[in-house]
Amino acid sequence: MSEPHPIDGTGVPTPAERLRALNAEFVPQVIDVAPGVFAAVGFSASNVTLLQGDGGSVVVDTGANPVDAQAILEAFGERFVRPVRAIVYTHNHPDHTGGARVFAGEDAPAIHCHRTLVDARPEAGRGPRFGGDAFGTALPDALFINAGTQLEYGRRTPHTREGFLLPTHVFDGPQTVIDIAGLRLQLIHTPGESPENVAVWIADKGVLLPGDDFYKSWPNLAPLRGLKLRPVEPWIASLDTMIGLDAEHLVQGHMRPISGRAAVREALSAYRDGLRSVLEQTLDGIRRGRTPDELVQEVRLPPALAASPYLQEYYGAVSWTVRGIYADVVGWFDGNPTGISPLPPPDRAARMLEMVGGVDALLGHARSAVNRGDVQWAAELVDHVLVLDEHHPTARRLKAEALRELAERQVNATARNYYLTCALALERD
Ligand SMILES: [Zn+2]
Repeated sequence: MSEPHPIDGTGVPTPAERLRALNAEFVPQVIDVAPGVFAAVGFSASNVTLLQGDGGSVVVDTGANPVDAQAILEAFGERFVRPVRAIVYTHNHPDHTGGARVFAGEDAPAIHCHRTLVDARPEAGRGPRFGGDAFGTALPDALFINAGTQLEYGRRTPHTREGFLLPTHVFDGPQTVIDIAGLRLQLIHTPGESPENVAVWIADKGVLLPGDDFYKSWPNLAPLRGLKLRPVEPWIASLDTMIGLDAEHLVQGHMRPISGRAAVREALSAYRDGLRSVLEQTLDGIRRGRTPDELVQEVRLPPALAASPYLQEYYGAVSWTVRGIYADVVGWFDGNPTGISPLPPPDRAARMLEMVGGVDALLGHARSAVNRGDVQWAAELVDHVLVLDEHHPTARRLKAEALRELAERQVNATARNYYLTCALALERD
């Protein structure tokens, strides 16, 4: 957790203040990690790492688009020695692969990745959901703080595929070694945030690039934007592999590198132990017949891990992880027979309104709830009106108010952005 600092007179930072403090991770800077290893942090949605070799360079990940890549190229300045002999994609995500053409220039570098990157299909479920946007791409600057693992994701320079270059060297199996420009790189298949993730290990420099298997936040195993669960057990195994390397420097795909063997070990171990704890608690709860709604109230990181600076819920959230694991292991049904065939929401809403005395009476309760800060309840109440009349102006206004307050209570950037984008849509449309 970040150091407490006085901002509201209580000495305890608000969630928004904590999230804003994270922006220190995204200040644009080329960081001199180790001899011949330079990380460009904060210029794009993800980091680009330059490895200087004999008579040429290797580039690991390429930023989100050609505009960002060009800025990074200029920031590297004289450190960037052509020809580029190789580019490594740690994984397929567009913020890591969108600037390759700029770094390649006329050099025709070998482009390395794991076989599963080539076979990967775009992640399903990326469409808009209720007008929400976890990356906050449509939020005005005054409301936007960051996107959790990056300052912004496609707000100013959209992610495009025009800078992507197809891989030329693909490896199968657990690992491969490439010797190029006097550098020896071990590429290790380490499924985690994505199934194709590759960690790059440069043993003689003690430098490990974990791709997106590690970033300074509780990982986003079950994102709001609607994806399959990112499988937890392989991710834990990948972290075990990386811990075993005893790296001196950890150059993450996002945020500032971590240096010092003890610090790297502590960071990777916190991740592994946190994931394992939440997985085991959730599986244990499932065996005891607990529902997802019960489990999110029960599953907690042990205090030492909950305080770890690497496990704060800026990007992923423990409760979403619990729900994701539950759905993955036992499916959609929580065990309560009432839920086998529930009433359609409009039918339920009509009955609730009749019971409570009509729309105005219900909105009166919702207004009181907003006024006393009981905003989740207010949003749940108002939904009974909106499911029958999505244009009801008072209901929309009340829900927007509730969502804005829920956003302010969030340290999680993706939830904050989602709440705020939905609030704007309710006020606008
Ligand atoms: Zn990433």
